[in-house]
Order: sequence, then structure tokens, then C-alpha cells
Amino acid sequence: MQLNEKIRALNDYPVEGVVFRDITTLLKEPEGFKEAVDALAKLSDVEVDVVIGIEARGFIVGAPLAYLKGAGFVPVRKPGKLPAETLSREYALEYGTDCLEIHKDAILPGQKVLIVDDLLATGGTAKAVCAMVEELGGDVAGLHFLIELDALKGRDVLKDYDVQAVLHY
Ligand code: IMP
Repeated sequence: MQLNEKIRALNDYPVEGVVFRDITTLLKEPEGFKEAVDALAKLSDVEVDVVIGIEARGFIVGAPLAYLKGAGFVPVRKPGKLPAETLSREYALEYGTDCLEIHKDAILPGQKVLIVDDLLATGGTAKAVCAMVEELGGDVAGLHFLIELDALKGRDVLKDYDVQAVLHY
């Protein structure tokens, strides 16, 4: 199956001028979901203690990847969603800021962590998650994405890390 043929492109969503890559059309196909997760797993054979998925689409691909790798799964969430003590990080968007949170005890010092999300755009989201992992003493072993929007150069913001993606637009 050609994974990219199953990804829907929506013009002017969520704002005018943006082409939104919608993976729901890929995930709803049994073969599409399996091939997408398998392709993520094949990006590297790095052994990690924990896979982090970024809310919300990062949960969908991150959790099965953690299962395949025999790693634990840790969610990074929007503010106010995690019940125990959290570490927060604000990061810049094109207009304004956003914030993500992780449980303070989710990563232990020295643990190897793989960060997973559906899509890499400017890299701001992933960079914020790297900073939180490092603040907790974890070691970012890599970042895996289903899609990378090459023109937005998110990889440059993450140049200190091993960044890999299944599909490039
Ligand atoms: P960045 O911080 O600019 O790299 O944006 C990445 C975040 O925005 C990820 O969590 C993505 O899920 C989300 N995102 C940005 N553009 C798209 C898109 O076209 N499709 C799906 N998610 C997107």
C-alpha cells in the first residue's frame, strides 16, 4: 500500500493558507494502520526504555510503537489533563504560544526515550518535549514522525537529535 495515497490533504485548515495532512483516512484502513506503525518501527532499531506520544495523534501511533519495541509509553498532554505533579513547557507558535505537560515521575534519570508524533512541521512542539525529557534527566534517543513537512525545516530546530520520518511532503 502507498501510505501517502491514503493521507487526505485539506486546504485552508485550520487557517487559510495551510494544507492540513489528515491521517484519519489512513488509520481507518486496517492495512493502513498496520503499515504505518510497522514503518515507524522500521525507522531505527534503537532500544529505548520509554516511548513518548504527544497529544493527541502522537498517542495513536506512539502507543503501538511502544508495544512493538517492548518499551513503556508516556503521554505528553495539553495543560490540565494529567492528574499528578507535572512539569510544563510553553513554546512559541506562529501566532501566540502553546503549552504541554508531562508527569514529573514519568521519566527517570538516565532513561532512553523515543519521542513520537504524527507530523513534524516547524519543530517547536517536539523541541519543547525534548527540553522536558532532558529536564527530568532522560536521554532523547530519537524522534520519529509519520510525516515531515520538509519546507518548514523542523529538522533544523532539532539538529542535536536523530530525527526520522516515514513520509516527506
Ligand atoms: P510543529 O510544532 O510546528 O512542528 O507542529 C507539529 C504539531 O502540530 C504536531 O503535534 C502535529 O500533530 C500538528 N500539526 C501541524 N500541522 C499538521 C498537519 O498538517 N496535520 C496534522 N497535524 C499537524
